[in-house]
Amino acid sequence: MRRLMWQRNRRRNAATLAAHQREHEWLTNVDLKMMRRALNLARAAGLCGEIPVAAIVYRGEEIISEAANDREASNDPAGHAELVALRLAGAKLGRWRLHDCRLAVTLEPCPMCAGAIVNSRLQALVFGASDPKGGAVGSLYHIPQDARLNHRLPCAAGVYKAEASGLLKGFFAQRRAFKSR
Ligand SMILES: [Zn+2]
Repeated sequence: MRRLMWQRNRRRNAATLAAHQREHEWLTNVDLKMMRRALNLARAAGLCGEIPVAAIVYRGEEIISEAANDREASNDPAGHAELVALRLAGAKLGRWRLHDCRLAVTLEPCPMCAGAIVNSRLQALVFGASDPKGGAVGSLYHIPQDARLNHRLPCAAGVYKAEASGLLKGFFAQRRAFKSR
């Protein structure tokens, strides 16, 4: 039974990768694996009352840092998952240039995080759900691919987007239900 499920998951992951590679040939199995890990982290953050968004900085298959949104716990307006993960990665590697690292995040980065992503010289960005109200990687702006800035990087949107947006929708529906009680 477990083996069957494992085989089914493996087939599904391979199909997901093949579909995304048609648009972004640089995507690998590792990027998908990191997104799945970020989704689990985001889910855990949601259970702690944070908006469920999480990010992972990785170099090849090595995880350099990971973080979930922690604005409520830290009272930090900049406590977005991407920003926290980038700071941790810089501290761990002992440098602010992260040109050999990629970042996977469950939600489209906002202008603040997209700016930090450009400034950290990341190699590539992979994200899940789009954010039509605040996204800066295709929705409202396209900061990581703005030719006026001094660094550009490839971005893959919509990786596990159904899972990522499902997490957010579930969280907000639950919060509304709680408030109206
Ligand atoms: Zn942000």
